[in-house]
Amino acid sequence: MVQVLVLNASYEPLHIVGHRRAIALLLGGKVEVVEPARNGRVVRSARAQFPLPSVIRLRRYVNVPQRGAVWSRQAVLARDRLTCVYCGKQLTPATATIDHVLPQRYCRVHNIPANTWTNTVAACAACQARKCDRLLHESGLKFHDPTFEPRRPRTRYWVLSSEIAPEWRQYIEF
Ligand SMILES: [Zn+2]
Repeated sequence: MVQVLVLNASYEPLHIVGHRRAIALLLGGKVEVVEPARNGRVVRSARAQFPLPSVIRLRRYVNVPQRGAVWSRQAVLARDRLTCVYCGKQLTPATATIDHVLPQRYCRVHNIPANTWTNTVAACAACQARKCDRLLHESGLKFHDPTFEPRRPRTRYWVLSSEIAPEWRQYIEF
């Protein structure tokens, strides 16, 4: 199934749909094609023909409430761009770990929620082992980027499982 990026009328990315749904939206006149698929395929209906879309845009603006992102392991890894925040090493989803800035044991003792946006960061196994159960200042570790601060994102993160179409890149922030 070919995936199609759906943009709001304002060109903000909204979601991803399968090509069948995208074609139904096109035929219904709800969207226009912004970027055709690079394979050059064409969709024909009784009255019209369109390039098979890769990016479509809603003709009418949809007001999307800006919900805060729900915490998840994958979303923290996406926020930190799959990079260890302590040594700057590039990680893979398989090698990345989640480090708790305030260790989980400390959180339990002090009755603080551990799995929150501001308390979790992406880390490699080596830095995770160095930090262990200690607080950041006790561990001797520092954030690789001194301006880094674990933050709650304003909008949700998309976790893209595979290589995305090159024509999507200009519409998605990396
Ligand atoms: Zn590291």
